[in-house]
Amino acid sequence: MITALIFCLATQHPAGATELIHPTQPLAQGEVARIMVKGLPDGSKIKGTWQGESLEFFKIDELDYLALVGIDLRLAAGIYHMKIHADTPEDRPQTWRRSLEVITKDYGTQRLTLPENMVTLDADTLKRVKKEGARFSNIWYKRSPRRYWHGSFIRPVPGKLTTPFGLRRILNGEPRSPHSGVDLRAAVGEPVRSANHGRIVLVGDFYFHGKAVVVDHGWGLYTMYFHLSQVNVSEGDLVGKRATIGLAGSTGRATGPHLHWGVRLGGARVDPFALLRATGE
Ligand SMILES: [Zn+2]
Repeated sequence: MITALIFCLATQHPAGATELIHPTQPLAQGEVARIMVKGLPDGSKIKGTWQGESLEFFKIDELDYLALVGIDLRLAAGIYHMKIHADTPEDRPQTWRRSLEVITKDYGTQRLTLPENMVTLDADTLKRVKKEGARFSNIWYKRSPRRYWHGSFIRPVPGKLTTPFGLRRILNGEPRSPHSGVDLRAAVGEPVRSANHGRIVLVGDFYFHGKAVVVDHGWGLYTMYFHLSQVNVSEGDLVGKRATIGLAGSTGRATGPHLHWGVRLGGARVDPFALLRATGE
């Protein structure tokens, strides 16, 4: 009886089958992919690597494990290799290699002309901006060993998209860094909600980002919320999904009240809407 059951499960889930389950190949820059390993017996330990970064898998049902992979906004088009390794209680260790094809995506270009004194930063401001940038970049490659997030991610405010992810910006003829998040319409004082469970890892008032909060969702997945008028949390706080972490505003370099919402996954800048799609029901 038991033998038959195991046989049945084994045919349904061939041991060690890896599958890209969302979205389909090729993958666009800024996308979030879901990789599944099927048919691993109970007590298996599974780990992967992608672009030199470790990839964490979590169990989604009896035999299946899932990982989220971030394709950076500027990752060059090409074929990339992923390595997945599993130690199973019964069998010998298994290793699989998977190829992911990445293609460039044209997210559009915005050309702006502004008075030169608004574009060029003086030496002191430049120093401040660099220092502030380092506070953010120090975070992205840290990986909390714990996964705080659970289930689907949510939009932090209901407002519609005003500036899309990935938009290339050319300011007075000079290319600037592309838009690495989304801008969502939000009135001053409107509650901004944490997109999932997490821990607050950064709170500050920054030259470009204004009052800002970064939430660590664990295993290298972070969300950030910029231009707030008020921050309701402190570094180290644990927050639940939908917790009000602050109020929307227009602090920092913002043309008007809105929420800039960004996501980092394994260091990669990914489209927050891609995270919603990848974790949605
Ligand atoms: Zn923005």
